[in-house]
Amino acid sequence: MVCRYCQKEPDIVVAIPEICEQVDLSQSPFSCVSCALEQGIYCPIHSQPHMIFQPHGRTACRFCIEHEAMALYRTVDDLLIELRSINHGEIVKLLAASAVVMMSLGLSPAMTICR
Ligand SMILES: [Zn+2]
Ligand SMILES: [Zn+2]
Repeated sequence: MVCRYCQKEPDIVVAIPEICEQVDLSQSPFSCVSCALEQGIYCPIHSQPHMIFQPHGRTACRFCIEHEAMALYRTVDDLLIELRSINHGEIVKLLAASAVVMMSLGLSPAMTICR
């Protein structure tokens, strides 16, 4: 298992996060930790490879997402309550868009929006 970027064989390999359209079978799907850090696809705080998100292929650490979601939760929850009385239609649309995630992960509307 060779690192795509430095061509060395690392002890610890990181799977490079890619969406289907980006996969090039002629290239290694792995990176070493130091190249992954350089590429911005590995979290230096949590020592975790990033996950990839559709449709733009942006990547992020799931623990960082969790951390930020927890930090935002109260603000978003308060905001939803305030906005509900001002623009009920838009809030209903926003909640409907997040309903699939809410159901599959068992999250509240505010936490789904934070994530
Ligand atoms: Zn490397
Ligand atoms: Zn992280």
